[in-house]
Amino acid sequence: MSSLAERLARPEILALEPFDIAAQANSAFGPDAIKLDANENPFSPLSDGPLAAGLNRYPEPQPARLTRALAALYNVVPENLVVTRGADDAIDVLVRAFCRAGEDAVAIPSPTFSAYAHFARLQGARIISVPLGSEFEFVPADYVAALRDAPGLKLAFICSPNNPTGNAVAPEQVLEVADRLLDTIVVLDEAYLEFASVPSLAAEAAKRPNLVVLKTLSKAFGLAGARVGCAIGNPELIAIAARALPPYPLPSLSVEAAMAALAPYRRPIHEERIARIIAERERMAPLLAASPIVRSVRTGGGNFLFLQVEEPQVLAEKLRGLGIRARFRPNAAPGGVRLTIGSEGENAVALAAFGVPAASAPDRRAELVRETKETKIAVAVDLDRATPRRIETGVPFYDHMLDQVAAHGEFSLILTCAGDLDIDAHHSVEDCAIALGSALSRALGERRGIGRFGFTLPMDEAQAQVLIDLSGRPYSRFEGSFEASHIGAYPTEMTSHVFRSLADSMNAAIHVKVEGENDHHKTEACFKAFGRALRQAVRHEGDPALAPSTKGVL
Ligand SMILES: *Cc1c(COP(=O)(O)O)cnc(C)c1O
Repeated sequence: MSSLAERLARPEILALEPFDIAAQANSAFGPDAIKLDANENPFSPLSDGPLAAGLNRYPEPQPARLTRALAALYNVVPENLVVTRGADDAIDVLVRAFCRAGEDAVAIPSPTFSAYAHFARLQGARIISVPLGSEFEFVPADYVAALRDAPGLKLAFICSPNNPTGNAVAPEQVLEVADRLLDTIVVLDEAYLEFASVPSLAAEAAKRPNLVVLKTLSKAFGLAGARVGCAIGNPELIAIAARALPPYPLPSLSVEAAMAALAPYRRPIHEERIARIIAERERMAPLLAASPIVRSVRTGGGNFLFLQVEEPQVLAEKLRGLGIRARFRPNAAPGGVRLTIGSEGENAVALAAFGVPAASAPDRRAELVRETKETKIAVAVDLDRATPRRIETGVPFYDHMLDQVAAHGEFSLILTCAGDLDIDAHHSVEDCAIALGSALSRALGERRGIGRFGFTLPMDEAQAQVLIDLSGRPYSRFEGSFEASHIGAYPTEMTSHVFRSLADSMNAAIHVKVEGENDHHKTEACFKAFGRALRQAVRHEGDPALAPSTKGVL
């Protein structure tokens, strides 16, 4: 018995010979083989930099490491997944693999993402449009009733959270449709799922004959320009869909960008960005609802809000004047506007267009990655928030110390390090200090409205004094010594190094003096006192426009 996917596939797709590419013909060779098989140019591009390396070669059609990384991300195995140029491409590939022009049909809820209908038309497939409920809610019984007995129905799309209305569809409802339309492939588009509170059905799609889940790195991972997404389903169905791809769909540069974004040590920062976007969405919704020109606000599971406004032309004019792009969606709802959640600064401008006064939020935040052969570090600091704090340097005692700095400094810190701990903790400890200092320096920006401070802290018998001047000039002084060579995996000799690295990378003078009996107490007292001194030094006080120096700049 053939699989459902084989029965539904276009006969031409099943008959298609796999594209005759050099990679397949010569797959027995190792990476060192002399490549005279693909009419490539032997010379790399003239430009410098790591990205240019290897660009004269054709990419892997389905890069194994990216497939593995995406499979791990979505909790399936590589056979369940075909990588595409964004989820858009996955929609196109599915329609072309399954729909015969002039004969087959796709079902599309309305209103929803316009690409489903676009690619259906392109392929000559019939479109069965099924209205969502009065509040744009997805009603499985209505969808199934409208589609029962529709001849040649190959694909039924469901977008959750729905673009542009934002509402998420409960997984049980999607599965109900899949259970009742057994001869149709249900395509669940999870492009915005990371911003929603419903769970993914990717792992479920891997097991079912008639469910496919679409994913993209465009939204949650901020990689819209790289064009990387995928379709997830059972291996037979995925193999059939993959036949509709061009021979080399994924540019090497996009693969590199995706691999960098998916590096585990960067995940905490991506998660924090998503949390910030969600928090902004929830903060803005009631503010916009209070606007005199807004009739309704829908805050669902996406990185956007769906509004209905009184006079869309007037709003359009205002937005144009402020240089703000938004999407007007009159076909979805009268006065419909889809507004993407931007950065805090961008959102403040957008709120102004709706007549909502917004406090101009200071943006003293910085994110950076620092990669060397020895360590890979991602760090995010926000001087105007106390949480979250998440520190994973690989050296537990040092995690505890940096957590003390952030907790006593009252700033948000996310810092992850993948370092060469198999050698020892030295590189990780030092490089984390450099990365933290650089991030703090960047977050301080022009250092307006900040002070210069110090703090003395007793900790049982130990006492530490830290003086900081965020002067713009690095200087470091450390007075004190330790008896033990290590505290856990943390080498005590690194403490003075850490403060020197911080001084250098923050462009600050940092003086540390510590005395006492117990090395753990002494070390902890240094980090805590540093956090306290930093908290005073970065606090907003005085005239926000002035740097706290008679020179006028720091
Ligand atoms: C943005 C979007 C996509 C397309 O994402 P890409 O991966 O950038 O092609 C797919 N589905 C929906 C609902 C979207 O809004």
